[in-house]
Amino acid sequence: MDVCIVGAGFTGLSAALHLAASGRRVALLEAARVGWGASGRNGGQIVNGLNAGLDTIEKRYGAETAAFVGSMLQEGAGIIRGFIADHNIQCDLKPFNVYTALNARHMSALESKQALWSRHGMHDHELLDREALRAHVRSERYCGGMLDRSGGHLHPLNLALGEAAALERLGGVIYENCRVQGITDIGGEPIVLTEGGRIRAATLVLCGNAYLGNAVPELAPRVLPCSTQIVASEVLGESIASELLPSDACVEDCRYILDYFRLSADRRLLFGGGSIYGGTTPNDIEARLRPNLEKVFPALKGIGLDYAWSGNFALSFSRVPQLGQLGPNAYHAMGYSGHGVTGSHLFGRLLSEAITGEPARFARFAALPWYRFPGGQRFRAPYSTVGSWWYGLRDALGY
Ligand SMILES: Cc1cc2nc3c(=O)[nH]c(=O)nc-3n(C[C@H](O)[C@H](O)[C@H](O)COP(=O)(O)OP(=O)(O)OC[C@H]3O[C@@H](n4cnc5c(N)ncnc54)[C@H](O)[C@@H]3O)c2cc1C
Repeated sequence: MDVCIVGAGFTGLSAALHLAASGRRVALLEAARVGWGASGRNGGQIVNGLNAGLDTIEKRYGAETAAFVGSMLQEGAGIIRGFIADHNIQCDLKPFNVYTALNARHMSALESKQALWSRHGMHDHELLDREALRAHVRSERYCGGMLDRSGGHLHPLNLALGEAAALERLGGVIYENCRVQGITDIGGEPIVLTEGGRIRAATLVLCGNAYLGNAVPELAPRVLPCSTQIVASEVLGESIASELLPSDACVEDCRYILDYFRLSADRRLLFGGGSIYGGTTPNDIEARLRPNLEKVFPALKGIGLDYAWSGNFALSFSRVPQLGQLGPNAYHAMGYSGHGVTGSHLFGRLLSEAITGEPARFARFAALPWYRFPGGQRFRAPYSTVGSWWYGLRDALGY
């Protein structure tokens, strides 16, 4: 075995597919089932960009780094579209995503974002005033928005399953229900310890993201698991569905603690939101999400909600993904901070580049400084929760 990858989410699958395509023998170890983590249960929104905006990256790391990051922001979506086309994956891919503004401040943030992205060579964004937004989202909650023609949405679990099948066709081997309990000699020649045995691979790649827990204690301080929730309405039928979201775009608003929603292929409204630092699952997901759903679409008051679920993403303190090495043969990528459908695919490719002898892009990201969450391992979740109350208050006051 050339490469042993831990975690069969999008990061692990993307790295594995890129590596297998370049002729490497790959084993993918997954504690549960393929796509069981965030990748199989997310909102399916292809949102280009990182959680940290290009302006923040420029301020923090300089113009050259912002140009480097800017050049890659649409690459993840391109990888997804390439996998779907090359491997004939049936996952209900649709074009367009829309950012919605609740107030003038949000609108001017979108104007700046469009100008910034255009400066970095991305010209797929169209600002929408209140009337123009109605072609995409029929909700009085918003005063405008921005369409990203290069975004889109899809059925995330079906994408993960399709990628896994493609990997197996390329000779990769997937071990499900195979939890990695620890790793010895991670800085040298790593040996992976599972309940059933030990695996030695020339190269180890860690893609457990928010679910890795303490299996690799060196990585635990880099990210904080956070949960977010989604509900799926009863089937709406074509006429109601296209009345609410006429262009079938996916939508996210501009708040810190945001709502995100879209239609499924069978015409349910999938409505997500909230985040809980530490990654706990609330007892009553419907009670958390229904009020916001009904604020966006009052016509759906009392609509049946057939499904509800929660999942964990990995937040980094800088909101920049965490790439790096714990030794010459041990790589990791994690921490997309809630914007990981495209990021996981991109950073899977960067992992593969580094392992196959083209480390430049990986190394550049890995060199960015990372920061611990205040409060240490024990108190970082409550500490961050207090911080998020502040941002929630700002959202509520219209900042
Ligand atoms: C509810 C929800 C909605 C979201 N919506 C969106 C969205 O619409 N758009 C967007 O861009 N992003 C979204 N995200 C974020 C996005 O889903 C993630 O950033 C992305 O899927 C991360 O992929 P990953 O492969 O790194 O991690 P994961 O998909 O979490 O995969 C990690 C895998 O590693 C396995 N694993 C962990 N530890 C071990 C171990 N010790 N041994 C073996 N296996 C292990 C886990 O079981 C898991 O399957 C959302 C996240 C959630 C939770």
